[in-house]
Amino acid sequence: MKFHRQTRKRYYEDSYAGHCQASVIKIEADMIELDATVAFPEGGGQEADHGTITLNNGRVLRFIDVRKMYGHAPGINGFPDVQVGGVIWHKVHPDDVSLLSDLHIGDNVAICIDTDRRARLSLSHTASHILYVAVGMIRPDAVQSTLGCHIRTDGARFDFGVSERFTAEQISQIEACAYDLVLRNAAITMSAHPQEPDLRSWHCEQHQIACGGTHLNRTGPVGRLVVKRKSLGTGKERLSCSFPDAVFDTTRFY
Ligand SMILES: [Zn+2]
Repeated sequence: MKFHRQTRKRYYEDSYAGHCQASVIKIEADMIELDATVAFPEGGGQEADHGTITLNNGRVLRFIDVRKMYGHAPGINGFPDVQVGGVIWHKVHPDDVSLLSDLHIGDNVAICIDTDRRARLSLSHTASHILYVAVGMIRPDAVQSTLGCHIRTDGARFDFGVSERFTAEQISQIEACAYDLVLRNAAITMSAHPQEPDLRSWHCEQHQIACGGTHLNRTGPVGRLVVKRKSLGTGKERLSCSFPDAVFDTTRFY
């Protein structure tokens, strides 16, 4: 069933929008819902944006988490476990909750994200796809049995349900494939499903991955990937990547 309200997802209209004006729709405990937001909610493994909301009396409150609420399953093939539509809630820093008494439904506010954090999350998310593409070349069986991923500012990881361990040689080959894609500085684009704009796909060269996260528009700034393997017990392997030579760019945000 479709929830009757929807937040305007400004981060999908322009992933370099660092701030926007919005009006308050709902306040519940330490959560604020706005009619529009530039803040990306936790989803698809990517951690949420952090930032500030400036009230019309000039006071500033910080938000430390962003969550997607009341989405619905789109019922379209190729996008398993995705929720679309719904609203976005901003979780207020515990020290700033007292400021909510100055906030009312319908107030105009300015919402601003931490662009340094976003730049790092977009780079890390891009790195995770480069890793995934490289794993697909060396161990396609692992990609077929992906269990999940987690994308932080300083690294990303995938868990795979495979009985055959990744060998040291395979890890080296994955690093080399990933670095080839980085060195080609390949263009990255996103597309939206014609019937459902919240269903999005990542494209790079011939590769396509269903993904609603935020990314860079080229592979080059990711730099060399360092890939590490960890066993999570029988039949489970984790690959983590870090990007020690990454070039973070916050200058494109406005
Ligand atoms: Zn993605």
